[in-house]
Amino acid sequence: MKKTAFIGLGNMGGPMAQNLLKAGHQLHVFDLQQAAIDQAVQHGAIGFSNAVEAVSQVDLVISMLPAGKHVLDLYLGENGIAKDLAKDSLIIDCSTIDSSASVQLAEQLRLLNLRVLDAPVSGGVGGAKAGTLTFIVGGSAYDFEEAKEVLSAMGTKLFHAGSHGAGQVAKICNNMLLSVLMAGTSEALQMAIDNGLDAKVMSDIMLQSSGRNWTLEVYNPCPNVLENVPSSNDYQGGFMVDLMNKDLGLAKDTALNSHSNTPMGDLARNLYSEHSLQGNGHRDFSSIFEMFADKNEKE
Ligand code: NAD
Repeated sequence: MKKTAFIGLGNMGGPMAQNLLKAGHQLHVFDLQQAAIDQAVQHGAIGFSNAVEAVSQVDLVISMLPAGKHVLDLYLGENGIAKDLAKDSLIIDCSTIDSSASVQLAEQLRLLNLRVLDAPVSGGVGGAKAGTLTFIVGGSAYDFEEAKEVLSAMGTKLFHAGSHGAGQVAKICNNMLLSVLMAGTSEALQMAIDNGLDAKVMSDIMLQSSGRNWTLEVYNPCPNVLENVPSSNDYQGGFMVDLMNKDLGLAKDTALNSHSNTPMGDLARNLYSEHSLQGNGHRDFSSIFEMFADKNEKE
């Protein structure tokens, strides 16, 4: 097993690092939050007070950070760690960031004889804890093969989407569709309720009909239709509205770059930014359901 550093131990990175430790990996860890480092150390990691020290003596670095600027700064910024890594080291960046930042990172790292994969994930905090994430990877096929062993300790489904940046494009296409499905499912369920139908009965009907989709199967936005989902827990936990907004902004940038027509994605982006402005940024993204319910109450 490679000597590995894990940078960024938040909602996703924390449990991902724990699964690597469980699988027997020796991990150097760093996060800006001392509490996050302490928690990883409790699970057997070796903690460091800065990223440069964390990556000394390792040949694999995994990062899980909020956005592109954090990733570029970590590797290439003033105190960036790229210059401290041994030649031919592999970097796996699991953050969801703009594909142009992933491509820029790959080009700069190649000049330093370093290899990188963009490997954003799907599956949320639940998948990170259970070790069942989907990894959507961009980069060389050779590096993807090499990464399979370590990714398998954190996820069960591994896809090679294409060259550098392709992992990010695939992830963003998926999340744009997810936002459309979540808004559409909410709208349909609320219309059924407005017409006197029971939300659970309506959900069961759609699950056996052509409206079937992932949000109905495992993430129903209407409270108390499914147990153990954010909607049945006042929309706490899960995937924050503001992270979905970040992804819809990335989707818009991607669409502009490729001259793609994405009216449904644009509409979902407008709905989600209005929802955030109404004070819901830190709630789960299925809380968009309340936007349709509220509208109805006002009339
Ligand atoms: P988070 O905010 O919980 O964690 C980010 C962590 O990075 C924090 O602990 C922060 O202190 C740390 N950090 C930031 N800059 C740093 C730096 N320079 N050096 C070291 N540590 C640094 O976010 P999260 O929910 O874990 O999400 C991480 C990424 O995963 C995001 O790109 C997000 O879009 C993506 N993602 C999240 C989910 C989800 O359900 N939360 C699902 C799929 C993908």
